[in-house]
Amino acid sequence: MKYRDLQIQTHREAPNNARTEGFSFLVRAGYLTRENVPTKLGEHALDHLRALADGSFLFLSTIGNEKETYFAIPSGNVEVAYCPSCKYTERIEYARFVKPISAEHVPPLPIERISTPDCNTIEFLANFLNIPKEKTAKALMYTRLSDSKFVFVVVRGDMQLSERKLIAQVGDIRPATTEEIVSAGAIPGYASAIGLKDSLIVADDLIPGSSNLVAGANESGWHLRNTNYGRDYSAEIVADLIQAKEGDTCIECGNLLSVLSTLSLNNDFENVLFALAETHHDEKGLTLPNPTAPFDVYLMHIPGKELDTYAKADEIYNSILDADISVLLDDRDERAGVKFNDADLVGCPVRVTVGEKSLIEGMVELKLRKVKEIQLVSIDETVEKIKSILKP
Ligand SMILES: [Zn+2]
Repeated sequence: MKYRDLQIQTHREAPNNARTEGFSFLVRAGYLTRENVPTKLGEHALDHLRALADGSFLFLSTIGNEKETYFAIPSGNVEVAYCPSCKYTERIEYARFVKPISAEHVPPLPIERISTPDCNTIEFLANFLNIPKEKTAKALMYTRLSDSKFVFVVVRGDMQLSERKLIAQVGDIRPATTEEIVSAGAIPGYASAIGLKDSLIVADDLIPGSSNLVAGANESGWHLRNTNYGRDYSAEIVADLIQAKEGDTCIECGNLLSVLSTLSLNNDFENVLFALAETHHDEKGLTLPNPTAPFDVYLMHIPGKELDTYAKADEIYNSILDADISVLLDDRDERAGVKFNDADLVGCPVRVTVGEKSLIEGMVELKLRKVKEIQLVSIDETVEKIKSILKP
């Protein structure tokens, strides 16, 4: 393809909104607009990556599981739990981990009703009673979309509910309204599963083994000490409902999990291009590796005083195309410096320059994007030389 047909527009300056260097170079090299929309060149690059499919991941250091591949980057929008030891990887909302089950079995104590004014959060409650959060039961209340069933969820006070895990158990939900909570017999901020009516009670699997928890009394300003699953209430569903966090124990190998921000690369080739740009650039621009670059060769002519360098470049262009090698011909009448800069920005693996001085000798200049030195190659051998570079 030709530079002018693609209407490539490069920029000397990094965009103001550049979150990362990779994004900055994609904009500067004319793959994306500042508004993060692919240009003609960008669309071509994405089509090329789609055609490569999974092969494009080979040039990225990725993590993943059988369902999804991720690229870790601080600006990523998908949080995953990742085990550096065994490589267990899962979206954080689905990640499994070893729960800290208390080994000692404490016998259930009698329920005690206690006054707890202004203790409508676990934080306030634990502080007020001077107990660790794990000695409390946290209530979360939803309404199931399919049948408007009131769903009452119990997790330990030190744990965070994963709504995705809950949805996997009960189906789609929305937060319950105050009216729905009250009509089930609960009170927001002071709720427990004890004595509820017409409710689907769902407990995290840590709850049956956690004895004598402080839970709401379903009465404003009051809690119950020593509530026990099995004795005081039970649940229709007991399952893992907890979201993993940094430092939790890996379910596979027992080492500690990290939480990473990532981009999901599945079926999102914009993210693949973004990840490639992030890992393959230098101070001058993109250095996309073969075969991920949108073109294998950046071919350019330097406008001459006597010889028609463009006509020769066009000839070479056709012979490269005939060899089934993808090539971008910079057909602009720009100064050499401008074109060299743009070639570095766009980042194709091989650059071929047709200039007057070497053309007189029947030669062209050939340079690899990541190597400083320039080789002189005879015009007749150019295509073979490129082939040998691309398929070592
Ligand atoms: Zn592990």
